[in-house]
Amino acid sequence: MESGTLDELRIFFFPFMAQGHIIPTIDMAMVFASRGSKATIITTPFHAPLFSKTIQKTNFSGTHINILTFKFPSVENGLPEGCESLHMANSPELQPKFFKAITTLGPQLDQLLEQHRPDCLVADTFFPWATDIAARYEIPRLIFHGTCYFSLCASLCVFRYKPYKSVFSETEPFIIPNLPGEIKFTRNQLPDFVKNDEETEFTEVYKAAKEVESRSYGVLVNSFYELEPVYADHYSKGLGFKAWHIGPLFLYKKVFEEKAKREMEESSLDEHECLKWLSSKKRNSVVYICFGSLTDFIDAQLMEIAAGLEASGKEFIWVVKKGKNEGVKEEWLPEGYEKRMEGKGLIVRGWAPQVQILDHEAVGGFVTHCGWNSTMEGICAGVPVVAWPVSAEQFYNEKLVTQILGIGVCVGNQKWARLVGDFVKRETIAKAVNQIMEGEEAEKMRSKVKALGDMARRAIEEGGSSYLDFNAFIEELKLRRMERNSS
Ligand code: UDP
Repeated sequence: MESGTLDELRIFFFPFMAQGHIIPTIDMAMVFASRGSKATIITTPFHAPLFSKTIQKTNFSGTHINILTFKFPSVENGLPEGCESLHMANSPELQPKFFKAITTLGPQLDQLLEQHRPDCLVADTFFPWATDIAARYEIPRLIFHGTCYFSLCASLCVFRYKPYKSVFSETEPFIIPNLPGEIKFTRNQLPDFVKNDEETEFTEVYKAAKEVESRSYGVLVNSFYELEPVYADHYSKGLGFKAWHIGPLFLYKKVFEEKAKREMEESSLDEHECLKWLSSKKRNSVVYICFGSLTDFIDAQLMEIAAGLEASGKEFIWVVKKGKNEGVKEEWLPEGYEKRMEGKGLIVRGWAPQVQILDHEAVGGFVTHCGWNSTMEGICAGVPVVAWPVSAEQFYNEKLVTQILGIGVCVGNQKWARLVGDFVKRETIAKAVNQIMEGEEAEKMRSKVKALGDMARRAIEEGGSSYLDFNAFIEELKLRRMERNSS
């Protein structure tokens, strides 16, 4: 067992293997390391280099952040060799196997905890069994959901009170009980694993995750108090959870990266082509479209998005999770589209530097699937959004940004789907894009979201709400350790 200095807490992070969970976990580990704790991330061999690369960009050394790997049982669970990340299992056949595989990781976690005995384990919500394993070694287990207070409250109230059982159709609205704000929802917007009684691999994980919440030490939330004070209070005082708001986590990384860049003689970071492209554009003139790391629309929907963007008349950057094979016709793109759009619209295939794009002053709007990381990144960049939720808790996040915060409009799709949402027509897309890009309403949304972005930056500065809650958390852990050591 390693031992830290009296002041140095040793925190273990165990993220779920998907970009939307991994990105904020790296950010979180860096925040802990920057405030004097020793952070260790437990992950698979596939993800380890990705962690190292991100950490390197910030000049954090291995003395602050350590990485431990474990074996991911892909083949044992019918997955292809090396399939260690959810985006590699992005099909109806592979996803259940992936969720089955994660239920078998307990013994490896047990071994690592027994060997290292950290002061605390921050484990993803998808690892409900981590609470009991940590308890064997008297290690407090914190849950990281990677979403906001609003969605935490809403999903819990839906889980507890099952209001979807009292409606007669998929489209009849119900009000979520015990949730401030009279929030209406429909069965259509809920995942099958919540509203149907059938048991799947994922239902089991989801139920266990909800059940273990009240038995865990607490919850770390990647949000800031000023964004959703009613729901932050409701989560703790109304629903009884111990939680600390320590976000927006990616903003810390930005600060670290900027500092590291200044410290380097020359920038070693190549500028992505799309950032150069943006530099020739007017302020707030470009709309950015990206649906996160997992959404995989069918070709017909991509075609419709292409047509909708063209019809909107707005300049755009559109990220599509497709590769390019020279000479092979792309079925998802209208004939001659890119040529026609030259100078007006840019398609990025694969991965785009989203945070940098959103932060560019030329970007004035964001069409998003409402993944929580993307939502926070949009808010901090001060851009209004078109909400186009697809799966996970994205329909709740949509309510927060449109109905509660008033910083976006809904594209209007109604149906939750694990991978691909319901079909949205080109006219609807064009109309929604224009709603956030021009006119009085767009300006109102823009000024609201800019004010929230300023609050977010203040929250992580010394004395800000997230900064202080982070300190409160660390102090509590230190006190706990002292009491244990003296007993
Ligand atoms: N992201 C990115 N480039 C891309 C797609 C996604 O940098 O081309 C990042 C995005 O900035 C965010 C994360 O991936 O930090 C996606 O997380 P989110 O919670 O929004 O959605 P998920 O992928 O989990 O559905």
